[in-house]
Amino acid sequence: MRIGVIGAGAAGLSAAYDFARAGHGVTVYEAAPFVGGQASTIEVGGGRLERGYHHLFTSDNAILEIMDELGIGESMRWIPSSVGIYTDHEVYRWSTPIDLLRFSALSFRDRIRMGMVAKKLQRMKDWRALEDITAAEWIRENAGASIYAKVWEPLLRGKFGDRFESVAMPWFWSKIQTRFASRDRLGREKLGYPINSFDEVFETLEERIKSMGGQVYLETPVTNVLVEDGAATGLRVKHPDGTETEENFDLILSTVPSFAFPKLVDLPETYLKKLGAVEYMGAVVMILEMTHPLTDVYWMNIADHEVPFLGLIEHTNLMPKELYGGSNVLYLTNYVERQSELFLMSDEELLEVYAPWLPRFNPAFERSWITRVHVNRVSAAQPVIGTNYSQHIPEHQTPVSKLFLANTTQIYPEDRGTNYSIQMGREIAATMLRGG
Ligand SMILES: Cc1cc2nc3c(=O)[nH]c(=O)nc-3n(C[C@H](O)[C@H](O)[C@H](O)COP(=O)(O)OP(=O)(O)OC[C@H]3O[C@@H](n4cnc5c(N)ncnc54)[C@H](O)[C@@H]3O)c2cc1C
Repeated sequence: MRIGVIGAGAAGLSAAYDFARAGHGVTVYEAAPFVGGQASTIEVGGGRLERGYHHLFTSDNAILEIMDELGIGESMRWIPSSVGIYTDHEVYRWSTPIDLLRFSALSFRDRIRMGMVAKKLQRMKDWRALEDITAAEWIRENAGASIYAKVWEPLLRGKFGDRFESVAMPWFWSKIQTRFASRDRLGREKLGYPINSFDEVFETLEERIKSMGGQVYLETPVTNVLVEDGAATGLRVKHPDGTETEENFDLILSTVPSFAFPKLVDLPETYLKKLGAVEYMGAVVMILEMTHPLTDVYWMNIADHEVPFLGLIEHTNLMPKELYGGSNVLYLTNYVERQSELFLMSDEELLEVYAPWLPRFNPAFERSWITRVHVNRVSAAQPVIGTNYSQHIPEHQTPVSKLFLANTTQIYPEDRGTNYSIQMGREIAATMLRGG
């Protein structure tokens, strides 16, 4: 068969790899000039660095398996993580159960209660029972108003903006599950990172697809899915020289976000409603290359409404700075609406908003430490998972025969991530090859 794939991110490339392995002719079209989608990289000091901070948990089996299959499993490094939280104008360590006991922003009773609630969630295996309750309601009820107000409400608000009260409990449950799965008996968390960056995974996939006779075209967006008598028959694509061609395919997989999919093809109202029911948060990620480290933790949660960013992720507190020509690498991250002021600001304006807050995390910080600034804006960064979500997920098999959809809104109850896009890409490839 001839199979067309729209998008060379984790889902599209892993599906295309399996199509090629099964002996089919596969062609991948990617709008961007690079592979990897949201997990793609830029060059920093001679090394590759993700546009948005990325790591893996020990339970991320699908990506670990594909790396082994590709012969690059040895690139994985597992590193003890260090986590902090900024609340009440202070930085607290937040990595281990002992740190939680010392977390004086909460009363001693609340610290114990928070640990017990996390344990309760870790032991809970039936997320379906949580489907009709929001994370905000569940946490307030089980952990109490003060833990919610001091810790979880600011973190939920940071991640989901004004939509934070509508996020369903299975999303929060799955976050706790993955984080606990990556801890040892003493509660110390280990995180994974491929030493040659996530780029190695996606570049190797591209290489293998090509070596099996497949094609991957960059800077070649799909502008239309061609449909005849209710069945997809091909794709109209725009080439880098501006010309457009129509290519015939027997099967098509789209991995574009739900809001972009209806622009490619006419769909019936019922399916359009499902696509439209899930909102996405965008992300604005600033990367600072610096001469000095800002903090000594990898992941700093910001539980403070005043601070204009949600998290500080100091990548070179996880991986050695020698990978980046000796630069310290700091991400400042925010999840925001795609139309928000922060999303639309210029890079310079954004730095002016963020930089004055950095001394809060290290009083010695000076602007001269910053040697380079990169900003990345992601429009479909995080689907907002509402209550009873399992009833609203768009089907992979679209109402147009021979046309399938695999994007991050279809990952549930787990939170979206490279692991789950790879798993979904491979599962959907198998389904398509079985005949739908
Ligand atoms: C800030 C941030 C931090 C993250 N951190 C982590 C992390 O720590 N660990 C982790 O595992 N995951 C993380 N993720 C999530 C992870 O990156 C994504 O879930 C995953 O990469 C999504 O892969 P995908 O293939 O489903 O979608 P995408 O990566 O979005 O791929 C879709 C592709 O389709 C292309 N496309 C769109 N329209 C067209 C068109 N018309 N024609 C051709 N191509 C088109 C896009 O350019 C894109 O390359 C993070 C994401 C963000 C934004």
